Amino acid sequence: MFFLQHSGFFPYCLFLMLVCNIQELNGFFVLRFDLVVVVCFLLTNYVLSYRCEIHTVSKKSVQHMDSLQHTIKRPVSFAGIGLHSGKIATLSILPGEENSGISFVRSDLPQAAPTPAFMDRIVDTRLATTIATEDAAMISTTEHLLAALFGMGIDNAVVELDGPEVPIMDGSAGPFVHVLKRVGRRRQNACKWMLKVKKEISFSEGDSFVKILPYEGFKVTCEIEFNHHLIRKQIFSSELTPQKFAQEIARARTFGFLDQVEKLRQSGLALGGSLENAVVIDDDCIVNAEGLRFADEFARHKALDVIGDLALLGFPLLGHVVTRKSGHGHHFSLMKQLAAQPERWDLIAYEEEGGNRVLEKVVLSTKEAGDKLLSYLLPPSIALAGQPCFA
Ligand SMILES: [Zn+2]
Repeated sequence: MFFLQHSGFFPYCLFLMLVCNIQELNGFFVLRFDLVVVVCFLLTNYVLSYRCEIHTVSKKSVQHMDSLQHTIKRPVSFAGIGLHSGKIATLSILPGEENSGISFVRSDLPQAAPTPAFMDRIVDTRLATTIATEDAAMISTTEHLLAALFGMGIDNAVVELDGPEVPIMDGSAGPFVHVLKRVGRRRQNACKWMLKVKKEISFSEGDSFVKILPYEGFKVTCEIEFNHHLIRKQIFSSELTPQKFAQEIARARTFGFLDQVEKLRQSGLALGGSLENAVVIDDDCIVNAEGLRFADEFARHKALDVIGDLALLGFPLLGHVVTRKSGHGHHFSLMKQLAAQPERWDLIAYEEEGGNRVLEKVVLSTKEAGDKLLSYLLPPSIALAGQPCFA
């Protein structure tokens, strides 16, 4: 990663302009401060301020945010059943190189290329978020694992998976977070880029909506509503830090209604689902003997899903994500809206300035840069047969 180094470029331009205007007059060299100098000065200043913005922000407002990238200290492994496929898989998370992001490798398919955990790889969002490699090898139910990595501040990692679906574990991100906390993070030297939303970005469909509002930090507010007396309307809101993510969100489990579980199974889905990995709701009770982990566990799990899906933006988000009755498809549509409106966000990085201040640098902010990112975020459609959500 790099910055537009305008701090060195600017004095250099000014110096050149001044030198060009030194003239000899009566045996003396004098500086001619004419209109050309003034116009060049203003023009250069305008162009550079347009291309690169640097703000100083208080450390307090960004104190929980990393300025540098992180990976995990050593490899960790998990094994378990896939919620929908019912297939047992082993998953290993390995330390990743700087600037490599999160990528998936299908270790059971040696010919399959590694694939970045990025929105252009999304091929299905119906019950879970599924991404695919270029050669159409699927990696399904990515959201809880990606939420764990994103929520715990892991920027770079390689995820090896020997099957088509990430193990569901206990239906939450808790087991991933527990192990990630135990193994610890390793700080890297590269700057961490973050996607900072400047103006509201939204997507709505019927009475569902998802939007991101400008916010100095990362906050999620999720509202769900089900016509069931054990749920009704729930709203969960939290400012996200690794500690809060681990305490308030990570352990919230996925859930389903008993009558729907039967229908899903008849359709060949939820084959690995059980009371070990999902909260199951009957007409008048929670079927799981242990009950709920939080009174509003359902809304908290929605927050987990949103965080995991938005991790596919490839950059940590600075903004307030607000959702109502949203699903994976809505989250994907919001990401497409974001990609289509580069003037509403910047990629920024923080740099320590000493004392209590940090510099917030806009890494890429021009229309030109936005256009580049637009093509980056909206790649040519990948031809994968029978993928209904990529319309
Ligand atoms: Zn989920």
